[in-house]
Amino acid sequence: MVSLQENKSSESDINALLAKEGVKSTKHRKAILELLENSDIPLTADEIFLALKENNTSIWLSTVYRTLEMLTEKEVVIKSTLMGEDKARYEIKHDEHKHRFVCVECHKMIPLLDCPLEEFEKKLKTKMDFDVTGHNLEIYGYCHDCKHRAPQK
Ligand SMILES: [Zn+2]
Ligand SMILES: [Zn+2]
Repeated sequence: MVSLQENKSSESDINALLAKEGVKSTKHRKAILELLENSDIPLTADEIFLALKENNTSIWLSTVYRTLEMLTEKEVVIKSTLMGEDKARYEIKHDEHKHRFVCVECHKMIPLLDCPLEEFEKKLKTKMDFDVTGHNLEIYGYCHDCKHRAPQK
């Protein structure tokens, strides 16, 4: 479930983000981006739809999907699908990137603080002559709660 925290991002941040990518700012686009901005984890279209409804924003699920596709195309948001999930998740594309731990039991996602791949990327550059432009990393396992709740195989 998505909990709506108090708005951390100001409206002007969202407008600036849209303007940078040449996307017209609309009520729905702003509402969706605000949700993503204030969420610690990437959200599915369904979660966004439900959170918006709770927030009394009237929107169709198909509009949420269409808006997310458009924002992905414009590279305002990043779309990714986690292992074991059939629904894509969306997050705002920031200059600095994030990694996360995903619990295979309760599907909780915990953002990781550092990137373990920086050194590895440097090595790829010098040893293999690769120009690395980015990477994706998710760590899977049992979170603290699930580890203690269920007997392990
Ligand atoms: Zn768990
Ligand atoms: Zn990284």
